[in-house]
Amino acid sequence: MSIAQNLEAVGRQLPNGVQLVAVSKTHPVEALQEAYNAGQRAFGENKVQELLQKQPLMPADVEWHLIGHLQTNKVRQVLPYVRMIHSVDSQRLLETIDREAQRINRVVDCLLQVHIACEDTKFGLSDQELRRLMDDGLLAQLRNVRVVGLMGMASFTDSQEQVRTEFRHLRSLFAELRQQHESDMPHFTELSMGMSHDFLLAVEEGSTMVRVGSLIFGVRNYSTAS
Ligand SMILES: *Cc1c(COP(=O)(O)O)cnc(C)c1O
Repeated sequence: MSIAQNLEAVGRQLPNGVQLVAVSKTHPVEALQEAYNAGQRAFGENKVQELLQKQPLMPADVEWHLIGHLQTNKVRQVLPYVRMIHSVDSQRLLETIDREAQRINRVVDCLLQVHIACEDTKFGLSDQELRRLMDDGLLAQLRNVRVVGLMGMASFTDSQEQVRTEFRHLRSLFAELRQQHESDMPHFTELSMGMSHDFLLAVEEGSTMVRVGSLIFGVRNYSTAS
């Protein structure tokens, strides 16, 4: 199947209101262009360097989503080009993004990444850290960061039950915080969860944004990636 057909097939399975971020990491610009020609505008990259390489080669109306771990020293470089950062996992990073966004007179949409998997290899805030960050009034003080929701990655496992439980947990955290912050954070509406192997489950559990790579672009070959 072609990239256009893959996009169509994934899109057909998404309810209205669920956004598809096409995760193009490791794939060449030609593949992104093919997706773009089929109408795709939101692309996800996990590395700042790779995003910066591809950005000038793609049309200006592409929405770049940074989905991988972001180091504070790379914030300045990438900020002018990102539509959304999905992977904010510390107060320090939030403050850096706020400061750098102010320099370029932008407001940047960010998601707080929550650690929901049982593996300890994945980044993200613990439930406790998340609650503390949301509760202490800090987010409302940031002028150039808009925290628009949460992001999480489920465990890499064949157990559907495990994955569902993790998504359900994130959804309930999201619902709780959304309700608490209805008045001071009215833009807190996005829940980024679901990848190629679990996006249908994620949608069933309330995802509003899925980040799908290999189902659209094929398997990644890390050995030849730049
Ligand atoms: C690579 C990646 C994805 C997409 O993974 P696929 O299994 O190829 O769909 C989604 N989210 C993040 C954070 C990723 O790094």
